[in-house]
Amino acid sequence: MIQQTLVLIKPDGLIRSLTGNILTRLSETKLEIVAGKVCRATREIAEQHYAHLKGQPFFNELIQYLQGELHERRKVMALIYWGEDAIAKVRELTGETNPEKASPTSIRGSFGRIRTTGLFENVVHASSDPLEAEREIKLWFQPDEIIIDIYPTKKAKKEVTVREWS
Ligand code: UDP
Ligand code: MG
Repeated sequence: MIQQTLVLIKPDGLIRSLTGNILTRLSETKLEIVAGKVCRATREIAEQHYAHLKGQPFFNELIQYLQGELHERRKVMALIYWGEDAIAKVRELTGETNPEKASPTSIRGSFGRIRTTGLFENVVHASSDPLEAEREIKLWFQPDEIIIDIYPTKKAKKEVTVREWS
């Protein structure tokens, strides 16, 4: 099945200059990148992204982690991979959540670590099922930032002030 999936290179991946390595690993999937950007994870976005983990003892630290507050690198790289079985293919290369349990050849197994607090600092995020992928892609991207149409859109007229080059 043709699918799309959200990948985030988390702040630890960026500050440790792992971007190229991670993108090279993911290119083994032969999937297509249909959107990509470097952006900040605000507290609101981080909390929505990990809403399913609210209530976990590590939730607050996890939100700080995604925002970049643990690494003084307040940005993430967000990408959408698209193609046959995209979700499973990317998760396979990403590896298990716990970097010590992840296959040593996976991205998390190669580069992840466990903080002394117990938080899994695991370098990347990847959507785990189609519903999660849809929710996350719509959280991180606007339709016009994606080069193909993956979900239905509607036209909305808005009066907005934008910044432009002066
Ligand atoms: N996490 C953690 N400890 C746990 C479970 C999760 O530190 O026991 C962190 C870890 O960074 C993980 C994120 O919370 O990537 C989201 O957890 P999820 O269960 O969704 O795992 P994932 O989908 O990222 O493999
Ligand atoms: Mg998850």
